[in-house]
Amino acid sequence: MHIAVVSLFPEMFSAVSEHGVTGRAVTQGKVAISHSNPRDYATDRHRTVDDRPYGGGPGMLMKIDTLRQAIAAARQAAGQGAKVIYLSPQGRRLDHGIAASLARETGLVLVAGRYEGVDERLIEAEVDEELSIGDYVLSGGELAAMVVIDTVTRQLPGVLGHAQSAQEDSFADGLLDCPHYTRPEEYQGRHVPDVLLSGNHEEIRRWRLKQALGRTSERRPDLLEGRAMTAEETELLAE
Ligand code: SAM
Repeated sequence: MHIAVVSLFPEMFSAVSEHGVTGRAVTQGKVAISHSNPRDYATDRHRTVDDRPYGGGPGMLMKIDTLRQAIAAARQAAGQGAKVIYLSPQGRRLDHGIAASLARETGLVLVAGRYEGVDERLIEAEVDEELSIGDYVLSGGELAAMVVIDTVTRQLPGVLGHAQSAQEDSFADGLLDCPHYTRPEEYQGRHVPDVLLSGNHEEIRRWRLKQALGRTSERRPDLLEGRAMTAEETELLAE
């Protein structure tokens, strides 16, 4: 997959392209991340990339022409049919299901806004979808774009070392993850649950499923609404 980012601050993306799981995915060629900076298309002495809003008011908007050219370059880099996403607090709220469907695309263009945002006509003309990472306002779309890059990259085939770990993460099967424990067996008087030391894989699987169901019911009951529960899940939740 090729992810082409449109941003005035491309250096911020080293956080995902050079570190951890996403950095390794880049090195292994599972994902390519390229940058397209509107400032590179500015022709005036000050390399201007913002403009005043019609109707007045505080704040500036991203200048249309430089942003349009940067998006065109990003489209080219991401390949034909690349989906263009504008990160915006007004967009559809990103969740696991959206990330999973984005992971099936061959190319993405992620447009990170700055200032007060982007001219509405440019969104209408260039953007396939607006995505939000939550009901709060960031100073720019870069962090939101990195959230998309991270969660999408994790779901690309072969990116995570352990074949099952993406499937067992919270939300993958519609539930929160179960609690996890590592050494030592006792920490500040708290003990690892006996079942995890038993070596009985079936008992461990059932315990983990029960924990996941219990946590989800307690912390995120909305996730269970409308869930088609298996007979085992109903039994474990009722126990
Ligand atoms: N005036 C805009 C509004 O209220 O809808 C907010 C502009 S914000 C200061 C600047 C940029 O940050 C936006 O263009 C967008 O790209 C990004 N941004 C801010 N909050 C975001 C969020 N919750 N999710 C995704 N992107 C966000």
